[in-house]
Amino acid sequence: MKTDPGKLPEIIKALEIKTMLLEPDSKGRKALFEQVNAYAENFLEGLDKRPVYCKDPKEGAGILNDPITDEPETIEKILEIFDAHVITPGLNPASPGHLGYIPGSGLYASALGDFLAAVTNRYAGIYAASPGASRMETMVIKWFAKKVGYPDSAAGDLTSGGSIANLSAIVAARDARGLKAKDFHRAVVYLCEHTHHCVEKAVKTAGLGESVVRHVPVDAFFRMDPIAFKKMVEQDRRDGFLPWLLVASAGTTDTGSVDPLEKLSHIAKANDIWFHVDGAYGASFALCESGQKRLKGIELSDSITMDPHKGLFAPFGTGIILVKNAADLHRPYQYEANYLQDEKTLASMEQVSSAEMSPELTRHFRGMRVWLALKLCGVSAFSAALEEKILLAQYAYDRLNRIDGIETGPFPDLSIVIFRYVPQKGDADQFNQMLIEEIMNDGTVYMSSTLINGKFMLRMAILSFRTHLEKIEQALTIIGKMIAQVQKNIL
Ligand SMILES: *Cc1c(COP(=O)(O)O)cnc(C)c1O
Repeated sequence: MKTDPGKLPEIIKALEIKTMLLEPDSKGRKALFEQVNAYAENFLEGLDKRPVYCKDPKEGAGILNDPITDEPETIEKILEIFDAHVITPGLNPASPGHLGYIPGSGLYASALGDFLAAVTNRYAGIYAASPGASRMETMVIKWFAKKVGYPDSAAGDLTSGGSIANLSAIVAARDARGLKAKDFHRAVVYLCEHTHHCVEKAVKTAGLGESVVRHVPVDAFFRMDPIAFKKMVEQDRRDGFLPWLLVASAGTTDTGSVDPLEKLSHIAKANDIWFHVDGAYGASFALCESGQKRLKGIELSDSITMDPHKGLFAPFGTGIILVKNAADLHRPYQYEANYLQDEKTLASMEQVSSAEMSPELTRHFRGMRVWLALKLCGVSAFSAALEEKILLAQYAYDRLNRIDGIETGPFPDLSIVIFRYVPQKGDADQFNQMLIEEIMNDGTVYMSSTLINGKFMLRMAILSFRTHLEKIEQALTIIGKMIAQVQKNIL
């Protein structure tokens, strides 16, 4: 159906008027910004008063009562809906009382970075489109690479998180070793029972679902046993398998244990096995002195996963994959021009586009939220916060050991403490299940649990930049109080 060309200008103009709501004027923007800022201020000022966890029987279903319609709604009404149905129910990861899983937090500086990235909407995926944005991201990646002790040949990519960073590492390892489909059933991946589940997911996603996954035994500190690893590799070689990939953890999610990276690296190297370190939780500790000591040997790896949305306190959606040799990440993802071949010079690496180092093309300008935070706060604030987390965990460990009936796991490698209460009679697992529920329902702090050697254990994971000594004291008080509460409930 062709419109009469003579009528087009009039029709087009009418449509143009209808689009005006998409571009508020300066006054309109200020009014919107004020409302949103007032909401953010209220949220941040009230953070410590909001429960860290809210079990809402409706589970946010109220959001569905306000369907998306043709007509605009006011920002006041929208913020009301957002607060009631999105912000209230469930977990509040921004809270200083979040001590469960691996806590996130969310730097204010990063929120400002996101705002600027979105308003200016720079195209960070392609160097030519925004050489400055691209250089900024490369700078952030190189800075992290240096912090973990990688040489100048290192490169990487800012990903959406640790899972995708691990996937990228596995894809890089697959192509670096030239694995072909005919070899997949013989290729062996070495993990341990505490390796994050996303690694096995990534192995499958990378097309290697048929590969052989072996679990290396762990010692009393839940760290991979290098002697057992060596024996497994030797046996596999004798049996005609292809030892291909070792994934060690620099801070497991369960217990925060750091595998013996140096010893593992020597065995991997001697056997031409790609050595990946999953440091999604722990690699950021390279920014502080105690952490650096703990992570010794991380620089001997071929690739490292980091998660600034954990250990650098950035909002969710920021991970990093680092590779020691830039060519290894470029190989799987290059799609054009030969100007960045394996022999590429460092000068050309400076102009690399993230689109050539990742499966993504158009994406969020992630570097801005990390760069702005590092620039605005300075690195020493981050180093101090991370050192503080390590010491808080040691303090909590010591205090927990003084509570009658509490049994702790090993001394924390980083900032996670595991423990349980052993009642004088009755089932310990059941008791601790009830204990964690009481702690969650109280809402002052949030902790999670895990199974270690079949035992139900509670975890205190300390990583939010907002968690300080006072909060840990509160957590310890709550634990004592809730133990008494469960004892009463049982009677
Ligand atoms: C959190 C975590 C992951 C997964 O990272 P996401 O950012 O959640 O995708 C992987 N490995 C470890 C050790 C983790 O702690």
